Amino acid sequence: MKELTLDAALEGPFSVRFTPTGGRLSYYTLVNNRYLPVESVDAFLRFKRHGQGRAELTTRTYAGQLKLFADWCADRDISIEKGVGQFSHFVAWLRITPIARVGRGHGNLRTQATCRGILIAVGELVTWATELGYADDQLLKKLKREETSPQLYGTQYRARTHIHRAPGDSNELTKWATQDEYWAMVKAVNSERDRFLLIVMYELGLRIDGALGLHISDMHLSKTPPKGCDYRHGHHIHLIQRENKENSARAKAPEGSNYRLPVEEDSVTEQYHIMRAERDKALERAGKESSYVFVNIRGGIIGEAMLYNNAYKMFKAAAKNAGITRDLSPHSFRHSFGYNHRSEERPIVMRLMGHKSEASTDRYSDVDEKQMREAVDRVPSPLNPQLKKKKP
Ligand SMILES: [Zn+2]
Repeated sequence: MKELTLDAALEGPFSVRFTPTGGRLSYYTLVNNRYLPVESVDAFLRFKRHGQGRAELTTRTYAGQLKLFADWCADRDISIEKGVGQFSHFVAWLRITPIARVGRGHGNLRTQATCRGILIAVGELVTWATELGYADDQLLKKLKREETSPQLYGTQYRARTHIHRAPGDSNELTKWATQDEYWAMVKAVNSERDRFLLIVMYELGLRIDGALGLHISDMHLSKTPPKGCDYRHGHHIHLIQRENKENSARAKAPEGSNYRLPVEEDSVTEQYHIMRAERDKALERAGKESSYVFVNIRGGIIGEAMLYNNAYKMFKAAAKNAGITRDLSPHSFRHSFGYNHRSEERPIVMRLMGHKSEASTDRYSDVDEKQMREAVDRVPSPLNPQLKKKKP
């Protein structure tokens, strides 16, 4: 077996590349200008992804951080090992050199937090290499000595050895709710409203705020959209940023008022109608009307928009009643959504999750929405067979 070494000469410049090996094995790595991976960094990133079970995107962050150090070393014609020996110079360079990468922050100095992240990444690489015997013990000591150098310009950095966690212990792996947990919670709630809330959080990846901000008029759950809506890819909902005076819920819609999410008919639409029957009956009995989808049907003032705190408590209670002992937060459903769509291209997932992305021009928005629809269709809802089974 070939010995890994941190002492190989580096040939830059480097770029971060995605290695699509599929599912849980995909990770980002660092390649040189001939598209060859930087062996030591590549092995480290594989360890992060496969050994520690860290997320694909985590390896992307690491790769980007390590790229800076590798570039710096290559510019000086030195190995990573030599670079560590001159670590304080790298730290100084990092703090006084404006960001060269085109994009956000271009031309600005890096923040203290950004620098810290980069230094920690290099520290982890060295720690890992030392523990596995790819680097001399002295290297870690060197790194620690450099840490106390006056050239650090106020950046505190501590390299320390640590025990590597086995994949099973990793929080990263269990940050999202599993399908079984989701299903158990859906069964554990005792109103159709709460069930539908869990469904839109898990299946659409909505935050509580996004869900509670939904109005009946946002739900275009039919094959042909209502008049005035030009969406052409089936059932969908609109995420609209507006003042929701009753519960001050705010949808984070990055592209203003025309942000549309495709939904699955068999799970979302079906449960929506079940929920509506319960909701409308409660409103009628109380002699109330509401434009909100989620309203109080038993407690509080009947017909008023559901409040964030109540949704949060409902989530926690559902997890408890489902027998889930670990600490699941509402956000874990959003993580599940990201996880379930992990094999999709990043821009599509970003749009589905309402993350800020480059605004697409009108010309391309149709393509985007078609891709979003296809992405949603590729992940069948776990509820489809289950809900059917539940009903007599
Ligand atoms: Zn519509």
